[in-house]
Amino acid sequence: MPDRLRNVTFRQPWIAGQYKLLVPLMLLALLFSGCSRPAAVPSHNGQDKNSGDKVIVTSFYPVYILTQNVCANIPGIMVVNMTEPQTGCLHDYQLRPEDVKTLEKADVFVINGAGAEAFMDKVIQQQPNLTIIEASHGIKLIEGAGNQGDNPHVWVSPALYIKEIENVISGLVQADPAHATQYQSNGQAYIKKIKTLQKGMHRELDALKHRNVVTFHEAFPYFAQEFKLNVVAIIEREPGSAPSAAELAQTIETVKKSGTRALFAEPQYSVKAAQTIASETGATVYSLDPGVTGPDQPDAYIKIMTQNLRILKEALE
Ligand SMILES: [Zn+2]
Repeated sequence: MPDRLRNVTFRQPWIAGQYKLLVPLMLLALLFSGCSRPAAVPSHNGQDKNSGDKVIVTSFYPVYILTQNVCANIPGIMVVNMTEPQTGCLHDYQLRPEDVKTLEKADVFVINGAGAEAFMDKVIQQQPNLTIIEASHGIKLIEGAGNQGDNPHVWVSPALYIKEIENVISGLVQADPAHATQYQSNGQAYIKKIKTLQKGMHRELDALKHRNVVTFHEAFPYFAQEFKLNVVAIIEREPGSAPSAAELAQTIETVKKSGTRALFAEPQYSVKAAQTIASETGATVYSLDPGVTGPDQPDAYIKIMTQNLRILKEALE
């Protein structure tokens, strides 16, 4: 924390999370006030904000689904996702004026961390008066390819997802002790469901014969780490930009040499490059979902992983 801020007294009793933001939002609001409608209070599930309600904003879909579960059926607690549910990974995300307006209403901001919200660094540095809970806090990160920094896709591993749920529970308990019991009981109930899912996945996947996979972007290293799969190549090293001819040729070579039979595209990206590799190597293209888009349903993560399990079994048995 810069020296000039060391003695700042926080007026909100809410400041308690691992990280504290202090305030650029008035400035940003001024900046953007000319280009959008007056801020509506974010509402969720038809609720309107009453005075005294707490607004918990999440950065993107996987964090939103997680937080929804921890906050289920608590009167006066609203969970609002900052980004659209079909946004996908935030690799190239640009903060929009409406995102800033959503954040202005937040009492707590729940992020994945590990670099997933790097586009918000500036906002964070300007330190708005907002509690931040970083779901990936304390998780041992895998380095990303090239100079991309740490790989942020920790939620794709059920074991690490459980760790993220625990972090969100303790962050919310600290930030809002009045609802501690509800956060804990909701959160533990959700962890129990994820543990059942995880157990079933290990039972099926630990016995698979083939363990080499090619994935679309760098979303699966934590999943592969948990289930002992080998990611032999990644089709799109820079998410959102098609691989070059040289990169494609290299991937084709790797697939041939390693005897990999399964290529995994992702529903959020074009399947074209995977098809090219498949036609050159005889491998089959399947779809694996990193859970970054989906319906607004509390059991979405479980459904997505159950479908991934079905596909992996079919592809690798
Ligand atoms: Zn991603």
